[in-house]
Amino acid sequence: MESRAVVLLSGGQDSVTSLFWAVHKYDEVHAVSFDYGQRHRVELEQVPKILDVVTQFHGNIVPHAVLDMSLLAQLGGGGLTNDNLDVSEPHPLATELPASFVPGRNLLFLTAAAAYGYQHDAFNLVGGMCETDFSGYPDCRRKTIDAIEDSLLRGMERTFQIHTPLMHLTKEDSVSLARTLSGCWEALAESHTCYEGHRPACGGCPACRIRLRGFCKAGETDPLEYAA
Ligand SMILES: [Zn+2]
Repeated sequence: MESRAVVLLSGGQDSVTSLFWAVHKYDEVHAVSFDYGQRHRVELEQVPKILDVVTQFHGNIVPHAVLDMSLLAQLGGGGLTNDNLDVSEPHPLATELPASFVPGRNLLFLTAAAAYGYQHDAFNLVGGMCETDFSGYPDCRRKTIDAIEDSLLRGMERTFQIHTPLMHLTKEDSVSLARTLSGCWEALAESHTCYEGHRPACGGCPACRIRLRGFCKAGETDPLEYAA
C-alpha cells in the first residue's frame, strides 16, 4: 500500500490536528509518541484516548508506539525536562529562545519516526511543526524539515516526505482547520497543551495562553477543560 503514514503524536493540539489531517489523507496511519521525561508527561496518557476518537469516527485502528527518548533528559533537556527551570523565561543557553526549547528534539524525533516508518513501509511522516507560532524553535522551521528529508534520503536511501500541514498556519487557522476534520474537535478535548502538566489545564502558562488565544481569535470555544 502506497498510502501509509507515520504521525508524530505528542498529544498536543497541533499533533492531534495533524493526526486527523493524516487520517483524512492516508489509508493507513501509524502514530509514534516520545517519552523524554517531559514535565507535561500527562500528554502521553491522553494519546490512547485520542486514538479511540479516530476509531470512533473513522473505524480504523491506529497502531501506536511510545518510543523511549529519555536520552533527551540525560542530555540536559531544557525547561520541558527540568523541574527547576521556568518555561516562561528565556533559555539559559540561548536567550533568543524560550526555556522550553529542547536542543535536538525534533531532529531526533523525526529520525526515530523515519526509522519506525522504514520498518513499516511507511515513507510519509506527518508532524505538527509550525514556524508561525510564537516560540521560534529552529527545529520547527520548514527549512530544517527539508534538510532532515535530505538527510533521511542520504542516510536510509529511501525518499521520506515530511508533511507539516500546520507549518504556515496561525493558531487560529489551525483551529479553523480542526473544525473541518471529522472527529478532530472531539479529540482536541482529550489533547494536552499545558506545560504545567495540569488537567484540567491551568489556563495561565505560556502554552495555555497561546492555545486559548488561537481559539478566541478563531471565534471558537476550546473543547478542552480548564481550571476555573
Ligand atoms: Zn497551562
